Amino acid sequence: MRLNNSEKIRAYNKLKQAVKNDEFIPYFQPIIDLTSGAITGVEALARWNDPERGIVGPYAFIELAEDTGLIDAIGLSIFKKSLRWYQCNQHQLPSTFCIHVNISIRQLMSSNFVEEIKQLMNDVGYSHRNLCFEFTESIYMESKQVIDNLVGLRELGISFAIDDFGTGYSSFSYLRDLDFSSLKIDKSFVSDDNVEILKAMIKVGRSLGCEVIAEGVETAEQCALLRKLKCPMVQGYLFSKPLPEEEFTEFMLHNNEQSMLSLC
Ligand code: C2E
Ligand code: CA
Ligand code: CA
Repeated sequence: MRLNNSEKIRAYNKLKQAVKNDEFIPYFQPIIDLTSGAITGVEALARWNDPERGIVGPYAFIELAEDTGLIDAIGLSIFKKSLRWYQCNQHQLPSTFCIHVNISIRQLMSSNFVEEIKQLMNDVGYSHRNLCFEFTESIYMESKQVIDNLVGLRELGISFAIDDFGTGYSSFSYLRDLDFSSLKIDKSFVSDDNVEILKAMIKVGRSLGCEVIAEGVETAEQCALLRKLKCPMVQGYLFSKPLPEEEFTEFMLHNNEQSMLSLC
């Protein structure tokens, strides 16, 4: 979105006010194990619950939030609300259930980041250890602050997923050095036209000991292809769109015991 300077200032002021009013909420999308059909985790995706416009998706505000530093507060709010949701519902979730949260590189470059995450986990009383931070590849990954933060987060028991794998600044040395536990294949690769690339990505993930999650699975055919290629996990509209908290809790209650593979 191209904005002139005064529009940018207006948009910034509005976003800043929204942060103050605590208008950001997570929507939840399930992650499915393709062997068992079980829901093994969830990805929290930010939404702006704007009183004037209703629910606004992240493409309308994440970039501005990153450029202005407001992403720090928005990211923490999404993280906190996701942990709270888990705390309220853990009795009906499998013990290995994993919560995935998106983290922007800007947050990873902040010297307070690990301390803030630790503090929030303490505030919420969160002791469960299955947390995964998702981030995309970036040249800034090599900065000392980012590496120190990653070490600190690891010490808190947090694991990492490389998001949108194959689209960005791809360097195999990251995969080797940064100890990712999951690799998320970008939705643009999930099709018949990309079988050889898909195979290679799944193989890279497996040989590095990563979970591989294919994103953007919309059709039974895509799911069947991924099962054939032995992709371990999937996520996508075929199973569920990202849902608001109450709807996702309902969704979990209905699908916890049954295999999602009947959809494939
Ligand atoms: P992402 O992390 O790659 O998230 C996946 C996006 O794909 C989500 O878009 C999700 O709604 C969408 N999606 C899921 N299944 C399907 C499908 O089957 N088909 C299609 N076409 N799309 C599907 P969303 O929610 O609009 O989020 C867009 C991006 O915004 C995310 O991409 C992520 O990069 C960023 N984002 C979202 N929440 C946060 C957050 O809390 N913090 C940060 N830093 N970034 C966030
Ligand atoms: Ca993600
Ligand atoms: Ca992604």
